[in-house]
Amino acid sequence: MYPNTKLLIDGELRDAENCATYPDISPWNGSEIGHAADGGMEDLQEGIAAARRAFDDTDWPTDHTKRIASLRQYADVLKANRQRFADLARDEVGAPGATVFSAACDAPLGMIDGWLDFAEGYEWEQDIGTAEMFGFKSRRKVWKEAVGVVAAITPWNVPNQINIAKVLPALAAGCTVVLKPAPETPMCGALLGELAVEAGLPAGVLNVVTSADAATIGAALVADPRIDAISFTGSTATGKTIMASASQRVAKVFLELGGKSASIILDDVEDFAKTVAGGAMVCFHAGQGCATITRLLVPRTRHDEAVAILKQAFESIEYGDPSSPMQIMGSLISEQQQQRVLEYIAIGKQEGATLVTGGGIPADKAEGFFVEPTLFANVTNDMRIAREEIFGPVLVVIPYDDDVDAVRIANDSDYGLSGAVHSSNMERALAIARRIRTGTFSINGGMWYAGDAPFGGYKQSGIGRESGAEGFEEYLETKCVAMPEPSPA
Ligand code: ADP
Repeated sequence: MYPNTKLLIDGELRDAENCATYPDISPWNGSEIGHAADGGMEDLQEGIAAARRAFDDTDWPTDHTKRIASLRQYADVLKANRQRFADLARDEVGAPGATVFSAACDAPLGMIDGWLDFAEGYEWEQDIGTAEMFGFKSRRKVWKEAVGVVAAITPWNVPNQINIAKVLPALAAGCTVVLKPAPETPMCGALLGELAVEAGLPAGVLNVVTSADAATIGAALVADPRIDAISFTGSTATGKTIMASASQRVAKVFLELGGKSASIILDDVEDFAKTVAGGAMVCFHAGQGCATITRLLVPRTRHDEAVAILKQAFESIEYGDPSSPMQIMGSLISEQQQQRVLEYIAIGKQEGATLVTGGGIPADKAEGFFVEPTLFANVTNDMRIAREEIFGPVLVVIPYDDDVDAVRIANDSDYGLSGAVHSSNMERALAIARRIRTGTFSINGGMWYAGDAPFGGYKQSGIGRESGAEGFEEYLETKCVAMPEPSPA
């Protein structure tokens, strides 16, 4: 059992009001792994007030050198606790071994130094020269300034990645933060809070309010006039609610939402079998990734061949062992998510797609929240299983006629988060990449995911970018300052 976790408010690790806690459930077998602080409305108010004070009354936003030095200490403490993040990814999130070494733990920890280097070298002030307007000469400067108090609201699928990718760049930009982790994964968030105290981060710059509550605390955080910007990752439905609420006071929003990403396999691909088998990567972390490839587009003439290859690949996936460093697939996060995925599988069957393999709860893993690796073939892009985000280990195979048809199908989606193409002809692949309406795109397995690369979506996949220069600048405002020329400044 893990020890009870605390909230972080104004530099102190505290119990929630009335010492409320709630059980944290292991997705592997439904058992309790410990209890988390169940933050309420009062805790939230205090967290926001502390973040506001730290922003308004201290030099956190303005003393870049001191702030980055403080964050470097925090980074060292975070990295020194790598094993604790990894253990939580496994025990709280249900992340299997092969994901712990990537987005579930090591990748985000490995991105922090790059973000801090970027912030350290950032050009906070630009001189845009002199201009004459209305017969009067002015010298102008453009200042970049922290946007203010940021509400960071995060989901349960890769909480270490998303918590770290919001908190560190926001703090590096000079913002202060109230982090509200998902109810399913409080401990990953609480660990960031505990380690902030250990690292001596100034009081109030980071506040962590964990809560069993699914929506009320988050909604109150978003609606609070003391919050200047909201950085949210989660479902498109919740993203729309947040955007509507934030619009009431024109608060800045960064939204990283759902996806239904397509990979196009062209007929000239070098190793058809190997490339097609890569479609089984939908099972990575049981498909609980917003940018996961969930639609595989194959030439109509080779559909059945592709399906036979995929069937074998899906049926050879070993999963369900929390101790294996090799496995790519664990459990779904909760029984609710398991039921949601099973409902989509039922919908796919009703819609007339061919269920090739999987589709149920594996008989030997009934106590966790598992769903079998599931493959649908003969899918058309108008089916709900091709349009809606399932967030489970479910791949749909869609046949296409030619390049134009493939691009049309890939783009025929409310989402625009990611995509891929495979071809032995780079010109042809690039032509397709240019026509696809997504925020990230992979050619022949190229990896866009990195700390210095912007990540985010077109269309209903969101607004803004995480990581990279663009991600850092989400947390900045721009001020143009003019003074008479010649000026002493
Ligand atoms: P899911 O349905 O997959 O749990 P959500 O998008 O609902 O995804 O949740 C992502 C995060 O948003 C969680 O931290 C959740 O508590 C929070 N959340 C849910 N509803 C709201 C809301 N109305 N306003 C703000 N945050 C919310």
